[in-house]
Amino acid sequence: MAHKNDLFTNVIEQIDKANRILKLEAGIVEILKQPQRELIVSLPIKMDDGRVRVFEGFRVQHNYARGPTKGGIRYHSELSLDDVRALAAWMTWKCAVVNIPYGGAMGGVICDPSTMTSRELERLTRRYAYMILPLIGPEKDIPAPDVSTNAQTMAWFMDTFSMFQGYSVPGVVTGKPVSLGGSKGRTESTGNGLMFVAREALKHKGISMDSASCAVQGFGNVGSHAALFMHQKGSKVVAISDLSGGIFNPDGIDLPAAFDYVKTGKSGLIKGFEKLQNGCTFVKGAAAATKQLLELPVDVLIPAALEHQITGENADRIKAKVIVEGADGPTTSEADEILFKKGVFVVPDILANAGGVTVSYFEWVQDLQAHFWSEHEVRVKLRDVMVAAFENVLELSKKHDVDMRTAASCIALKRVADAITMRGIFP
Ligand code: GLU
Repeated sequence: MAHKNDLFTNVIEQIDKANRILKLEAGIVEILKQPQRELIVSLPIKMDDGRVRVFEGFRVQHNYARGPTKGGIRYHSELSLDDVRALAAWMTWKCAVVNIPYGGAMGGVICDPSTMTSRELERLTRRYAYMILPLIGPEKDIPAPDVSTNAQTMAWFMDTFSMFQGYSVPGVVTGKPVSLGGSKGRTESTGNGLMFVAREALKHKGISMDSASCAVQGFGNVGSHAALFMHQKGSKVVAISDLSGGIFNPDGIDLPAAFDYVKTGKSGLIKGFEKLQNGCTFVKGAAAATKQLLELPVDVLIPAALEHQITGENADRIKAKVIVEGADGPTTSEADEILFKKGVFVVPDILANAGGVTVSYFEWVQDLQAHFWSEHEVRVKLRDVMVAAFENVLELSKKHDVDMRTAASCIALKRVADAITMRGIFP
C-alpha cells in the first residue's frame, strides 16, 4: 500500500497529467502546485481530568483566485500537514469543477476524537477556531465538517467566531445545524450528490439504477447517506463496512434498517446488525472487510472511507464496473492507470463528492441573504449542478480519450488558471 504521507505527490502527478493536455504556462502551473497560505497552530487544552495536553492543528488555503476559500475541518490521529495540503488543493479543483465561486482550503487537528469527551472536543474546537481566526470569515475562508467533525462542531466554531466579532456571523461556517442558519439537505448532500453522479455513470454504461448492485466502503456521514440514496433509487446494496468490519448480503441489505441501527446505536458502528437481518454475514475488522468489499463483482463501488484504498497492489482485482469516489483521494495514480486499462469507469472525488461543498455554497448564499430555501429547492439545484458537471467532464474525457479524473482536473485547472491570468500577478 502506498504510504499515507504522499498525498500531495498525488496532487502534483494529477496536475502534470492534466497539463499534458492543457499546456498551461509554466509559471501558472507553479502557482497551482503551491498552497497560497498555511498556518500551523499549537492548541493547549485542559482535559477533563485536569491535565493539559497540547494538540497540533492546521489551516491551509490552497488557492483563492476564484473567491473565498472553502473546505472542511478534519479531526484525525494520523493527520499531517501534507494531507491537509493535498485535501486543500482537491477542494480548489472540486469547487472549480462544479463551478462555484470559491477557492480551496482545508484544516484539521491531530487528535483521536473517539478517546475524547464532548466537553474536551468543544474546548479543542473553540481554541482551534480562535487560533485560526485571522484567516477565517464569510468573505475570506469558510470551514465546514469533514471526517470526525459535524454540525455541532460547526455550531461551536460559529459561536466562537461570533463572540470575537460581537455579533452573530452564521456565514462563517457551513454544515451548521438548521436552527443556526444551516441549510436543509446539507447533512445528506454529499451522499445525495454521489447518487446523482452514480446514476449518470450507470446510464453511460447502459446499466439501469434499479438493477444495479452496489458496495459502499465507510459508513460515516458520506457512506451511510450514499448507501441509503442508492437503496432508495432501487439499487441493491450488497456490502457496507466501517471500522468494526463489514456486512455482506448478496440479496441486498435493508439499508434504512442498517442506517437506523447505526444512528441510534451506542457504538455508532454496524457490527451486530447482521443478527437483525436474515442473509447478512459479518466480516470482523476493517482490514479484512475492506479487502473483501473492494473486490466484489458489483456494478457500483463507492469508497467513502479514507484516502489510498485502491492502489497498485489491489487495482487489478477490482471487479466493479463503476467507481464513484465518496472519499477524497481513495485511488492512487498507479491504480488509476490500471483501472483505466481495465475499462473501469471512475468518477473522481473532485466531481463525485462535490455535492457537499455545493450545498455548503447554497447554505452560505442563504446565510448572506438571510433567506432560506425548501429542501426540495436545495435538492433540485444540487441535482442540476451535479448532472451538468458530470456531462461537462464526460464530454471532455471523450474528446481527449482520457479518464474522468484527468478530464475533471483539466476543467478545474483551466478555470483556476483563467482566473489567475485575468487577475494578473500582484504587484
Ligand atoms: N469536507 C467536505 C468536502 O471535502 C465539505 C467541504 C465544504 O463544504 O466546505 O467536500
